Amino acid sequence: MLKIVILGGGFGGIYSYKYLLRFSKFIKRNFEIFLVDEKEYFLFTLLLHEVAAFKIEPNCIIEKYNKILNKNCKFIQGRVEKIDLENKTIYLKDSNKEKVEYDYLIISLGSKANFYNIPGAQENVFTLKSLDDAIKIRNYIFEKLENFNQAREKKVLAEPMLLNFVIVGGGATGVELAAELADYFYGSSKIFKENNKIKIILIEKGNELLMQFSPKLRKIAFNILKNKKVEIILNKGVKEVNKDWVRLEDETLIKTNTVIWTAGVQANLPELIGNIQKSKDGRLIVNEFLQLKNYDNVFVIGDICFFVHEEKPLPQLAQVAVRQAKTAAKNILNLINKKPLEKFVYKHKGDLISLGRYFAIGKINGFNLYGIFAWLVWRILYILKIFSLMRKIKFL
Ligand SMILES: Cc1cc2nc3c(=O)[nH]c(=O)nc-3n(C[C@H](O)[C@H](O)[C@H](O)COP(=O)(O)OP(=O)(O)OC[C@H]3O[C@@H](n4cnc5c(N)ncnc54)[C@H](O)[C@@H]3O)c2cc1C
Repeated sequence: MLKIVILGGGFGGIYSYKYLLRFSKFIKRNFEIFLVDEKEYFLFTLLLHEVAAFKIEPNCIIEKYNKILNKNCKFIQGRVEKIDLENKTIYLKDSNKEKVEYDYLIISLGSKANFYNIPGAQENVFTLKSLDDAIKIRNYIFEKLENFNQAREKKVLAEPMLLNFVIVGGGATGVELAAELADYFYGSSKIFKENNKIKIILIEKGNELLMQFSPKLRKIAFNILKNKKVEIILNKGVKEVNKDWVRLEDETLIKTNTVIWTAGVQANLPELIGNIQKSKDGRLIVNEFLQLKNYDNVFVIGDICFFVHEEKPLPQLAQVAVRQAKTAAKNILNLINKKPLEKFVYKHKGDLISLGRYFAIGKINGFNLYGIFAWLVWRILYILKIFSLMRKIKFL
């Protein structure tokens, strides 16, 4: 029996599994599917900022693989350390686990935070990539507010670094998090209202936030954050991070011991044995069918994949991973059935981001949306996505 192995059970991996099942429904099944992931649950990363900012509970955005996968797919929990492409073998970290061999492989191991070698960044910041990251931020903020409260009761002046919450990166994740944190401080805590010394500071190296949106939507987002009392610093990158401060490129020093890093990602590559080609930013280069160069039986999708579309590499987004999953699944079945392969064609449907309670902005099929209507569209889309994947709604 042929063995199809999917590495990574995130958006790319889970949808690959789903499409493999769907497309193989009407043909004689002559393969088995294995899914390998270090976690035991699928994570809906798109709402991590809401977990970090106390809006939803952590268990709202996860579903265990054993509830998603049916008996046609075997789940193997383990950390992929090495892929030997020449011998079609995967090695997991835990040496007790057997090595996994494959006939066809889908690599969808996602990405991790990119610190761009900025001194002190890796050691002193929080990231927002995993559920553990979101819970860590949440617990830490809670503790900070408790300490602040105690200092206030004792009438001790709290240190500014206790009160400054710095977010680095003015892309979608940084903006969404800033908006949610502002809502949290305002909505649930009197402290912020009473003491405007608590600050949320959003730092962006470029001259605008949310460069993927039109100038009109960027302006709306900027004003919404300003109204929520988020302090926005543009045109200044972070030069160094210490446990008690952040230094900007123009030498401005911001006292803080809470820095949340949402400034970029890099491919999450295990060791690879074989003749592979990587892009400058470290992603695996694929051909028009999403096959890894030199390895026709290996497909690479999602954040780890480098695919050029309209002269630009595709962004590292869930919607890209999901679309690529469909093509990769089809093409594996095409290879098995000795049919011609399908080219991957990408059409960006749009982007939507939330700006806290009841407000979102976005562009869908060329139309700009903003306000409560956009928020409703955003929420319903996400619920439907989670619903179809997890078959239940656990949040609103
Ligand atoms: C906070 C946040 C908000 C986001 N918001 C949006 C959004 O609004 N819209 C959008 O389109 N995209 C968004 N993204 C990006 C989106 O989450 C990614 O583009 C998408 O998840 C990529 O899918 P993937 O399958 O490549 O990787 P992932 O979904 O990250 O899956 C990778 C999987 O591989 C596993 N894994 C990694 N390394 C190993 C290893 N060595 N061994 C075993 N398992 C491993 C991980 O546990 C994970 O399950 C957001 C991301 C974050 C972090």
